[in-house]
Amino acid sequence: MTSVATSISLITRAEAERRPAGTSGASTGSTCGTDLAKGPWEFDAAEALRGMPAYGPGASVADIAPASTPRQGQLPKEYRDAPEAELHERIRAAKSTLGDRVVVLGHFYQRDEVVEHADFVGDSFQLANAALTRPDAEAIVFCGVHFMAETADILSRDDQAVILPNLAAGCSMADMADIDSVEACWAQLEELFGTEPDEDGRVPVIPVTYMNSSAALKGFCGERGGIVCTSSNAATVLEWAFERAQRVLFFPDQHLGRNTAKAMGVPLTQMPMWSPRKPWGGTDPQTLTDARVILWHGFCSVHKRFTVAQVEKARAEYPGVRVIVHPECPMEVVDAADEYGSTDYIRKAIAAAAEPTAFAIGTEINLVNRLAAEYPQHTIFCLDPVICPCSTMYRIHPGYLAWVLEGLVEGEVRNRIEVPAEVAGTARVALERMLAARP
Ligand code: SF4
Repeated sequence: MTSVATSISLITRAEAERRPAGTSGASTGSTCGTDLAKGPWEFDAAEALRGMPAYGPGASVADIAPASTPRQGQLPKEYRDAPEAELHERIRAAKSTLGDRVVVLGHFYQRDEVVEHADFVGDSFQLANAALTRPDAEAIVFCGVHFMAETADILSRDDQAVILPNLAAGCSMADMADIDSVEACWAQLEELFGTEPDEDGRVPVIPVTYMNSSAALKGFCGERGGIVCTSSNAATVLEWAFERAQRVLFFPDQHLGRNTAKAMGVPLTQMPMWSPRKPWGGTDPQTLTDARVILWHGFCSVHKRFTVAQVEKARAEYPGVRVIVHPECPMEVVDAADEYGSTDYIRKAIAAAAEPTAFAIGTEINLVNRLAAEYPQHTIFCLDPVICPCSTMYRIHPGYLAWVLEGLVEGEVRNRIEVPAEVAGTARVALERMLAARP
């Protein structure tokens, strides 16, 4: 199987050869950005020059990175210049020296060149839990994005160091809900609704945060009787919340919130969207009072790319195709698909298909390609024909992985992610509520 990174570099090289001298930049129509073929360290250098953090080339490049986004220092030259084969050799050697003292986690959306070194591959919550099965590990190297490393730090022991190989690997969706904006929203909602429960004991509003959010927001939920959800258990968590509250404030992903609540029978008219920095979130007090779910104006730039036209095209080209999309996709796409579900749902649906089947999948390209290689009896392809990986996940390159692992061999912990104890405590409460939630 050709990896996404290899495909990108082949496509962009061909594009560069076709381009007249002196022109640059435009998308090829085959990848969502020719800059994807560059080493991510080139982008770290550009960030340093501009003094601004950014998400880098790819699906989320147009999103605005908050000033608080962690900055990655320049990767040392020996790692930037090393051929990939040498980096793989160095990673293997460092892992072998460290043995059980380190565990490497690889998210489903991570590039193959990194995943091949992972001890566990999964979604963010599966990985945080997988790390708990390695009590001897002094270091947990999380090849994912920032909020995932935070969750692993919350769930791991204090003496275990959680490491994010490239600090610039954030999540543009998670960053769309920052703690200050959510606190400002909450203050307005409390002013509007008060805090007194109704005759059934249900409070006016309860906060629910998607796993893809900062530790500060998980802590915010923990402190206010709220809860965390994943894309697998969002319906269970919403039911839990509706038993305890008249309304839910759901952040940061509007699409997961809308798709889940709609499937539970909540009318769209009772799901207003809250846009931070607008008076009453861009809506009005009466609409908020009538709401069942108040949706934060957040989205995933990777899943937002999927369209109904792509679904129609897949159906026209592959009669009988099964279209399965992730619930971070827009509602119209979910409605047009045959099924929707988390990465785990998608994997299991494909694994359970007894007969050779065509699957059109609406989720991140690295996972789709890996599933296609794993199940050659099926025809599995990504709904979006443009190769566009999660650009923040893509910032983790074997060069950074080698750098942090060799640091550990030398006794130096690089890029440690530490959630302050007071935040970790309340965030853990919200996570524990999720684990205990039952429909
Ligand atoms: S795929 Fe979307 S939600 Fe997931 S890490 Fe990337 S930007 Fe964030």
